[in-house]
Amino acid sequence: MATTKYIFVTGGVSSSLGKGIIAASLAKLLQAQGYRTTIQKLDPYINIDPGTLNPYEHGECYVTDDGAETDLDLGHYERFLNVPTSQANNVTTGRIYQSVIDKERRGEFLGKTVQVIPHITDEIKSRIQILGNSGEFDIVITEIGGTVGDIESLPYIEAVRQLKWDLGEHNALVIHLTLVPYLAAAGELKTKPTQHSVKTLMESGVQADILVCRTEHELPLDLRVKLARFCNVTQDSVIQSIDAKTIYDVPNLMLEQGLDKIVLKKLDLKSETPDLKHWNAFLKRHKNPKSEVTIGLIGKYVELQDSYKSILEAFIHAGAENEVKVNVESIHSEYLNADNIKLKLSHLDGALVAPGFGERGISGKIEAIKYVRENNIPFLGICLGMQMAVIEFSRNVLGFKDANSTEMDENTKYPVINLMEEQKDVTEKGGTMRLGQWDCELVENTVASSVYNHKVIKERHRHRYEFNSDYKAEIEAGGMIATGFNPETKLVEIVEIPSHPWFVGVQYHPEYKSTVAKPHPLFMAFVMAAKKHRTANKKK
Ligand code: GLN
Repeated sequence: MATTKYIFVTGGVSSSLGKGIIAASLAKLLQAQGYRTTIQKLDPYINIDPGTLNPYEHGECYVTDDGAETDLDLGHYERFLNVPTSQANNVTTGRIYQSVIDKERRGEFLGKTVQVIPHITDEIKSRIQILGNSGEFDIVITEIGGTVGDIESLPYIEAVRQLKWDLGEHNALVIHLTLVPYLAAAGELKTKPTQHSVKTLMESGVQADILVCRTEHELPLDLRVKLARFCNVTQDSVIQSIDAKTIYDVPNLMLEQGLDKIVLKKLDLKSETPDLKHWNAFLKRHKNPKSEVTIGLIGKYVELQDSYKSILEAFIHAGAENEVKVNVESIHSEYLNADNIKLKLSHLDGALVAPGFGERGISGKIEAIKYVRENNIPFLGICLGMQMAVIEFSRNVLGFKDANSTEMDENTKYPVINLMEEQKDVTEKGGTMRLGQWDCELVENTVASSVYNHKVIKERHRHRYEFNSDYKAEIEAGGMIATGFNPETKLVEIVEIPSHPWFVGVQYHPEYKSTVAKPHPLFMAFVMAAKKHRTANKKK
């Protein structure tokens, strides 16, 4: 193919309409017809990346192989497409301005006044085209964060206007995602907000080519006709996006509506029936489980669904693979203590202690780990969850009173988790953790080696602290063993308790690498261990 085609996805009326899922679903349909497709997210906030954002602000921070701390939508892109994303797939206003200002300081604009148009918009345009120019993709879908009409979005919309013009007919199109609300009192679906939002887009010189209308009820033909008429789009370009039971239904819903066909027609590309065999087999298994398990997700952000997005999705993939329904029970670590722990945890078939930062909720996590360790309930600790498992073991098995991570107590007598050597001189918070993909060498005859079935694995990291190897000998002698190491630094990446039915703590984040096409082996093994626990306990 001579040129890369560009699809821009904008949003109107309201946030949280699921632009990321629509973009990922369309990309899936295009990929399933042989088009090399990628998705990029442009976020209009001033943070350089979401790495410094609290999960309450922006949900989970997703990490790529190359160590970018990104928006959680990139997780959806990878889960749907099974193609890794990278630094280039998430750009924020902060990053755009930073690079323009750096250029200005280097004297690259010497003599010129640096302005939003053309300098900021040129930078946005070049970031959009980096993926297209790499030669790796036939189609690049760029999702513009925020809602049309926001002040922050204006330079992005302007960049889209210019690019659409530069690229020419059939090379770029705009999909506008809007809400068609249902007014219960009137018993009617309303198109006016969509009309206004399309108009707002037009005020910036951008004509939407396709409307995807989020709705709770079927959009009848007369409403589609009305929307087409008012919004300057053809009738077959009004697509409904009705609430789905699972996000994994959305590609099929878009296929039924012909979104892929109309997109390809407008881009002058040929369309065929997408090959969704594997996808549909996954959906069938997901929807027809033969058994179920209940796994506790223990963390301090559990009240917010998006905080542990990748973990929840990894359970869906692993459950489907095993035809097991995984009921994830959110358990707030802040409210766990020795008095209520049995009540809250005894019915679980497995417990996952979540990643995190800082002191809040720590004692509840340690209490939970003690309970599942002593009661033989399968356990998976991720990042901070693994660190807490080491602390719990040191305190309660080895008797190291008040053993801790130096993150929580700088002066602890037993710093079983401490700051990594290369972190000691780091003063800035943004982008300075141990990030991205690292090798891990597995010890033979362990849960880890049997789960992965490989000698060396690659997993993604996001942390500053680590297992303190000074305590390795004592911890191992006590019965918790290190079963995965970084081959160069010998950092401990995995711990296990061989005398426990299934107790694994990992310093990395396996959840980031679980996709529909490739459910993560560690989550699969954990779900199977939970299933075994449930069966054994029922027999008793
Ligand atoms: N706060 C811990 C660290 O920085 C764990 C981080 C995490 O769970 N991602 O090492």
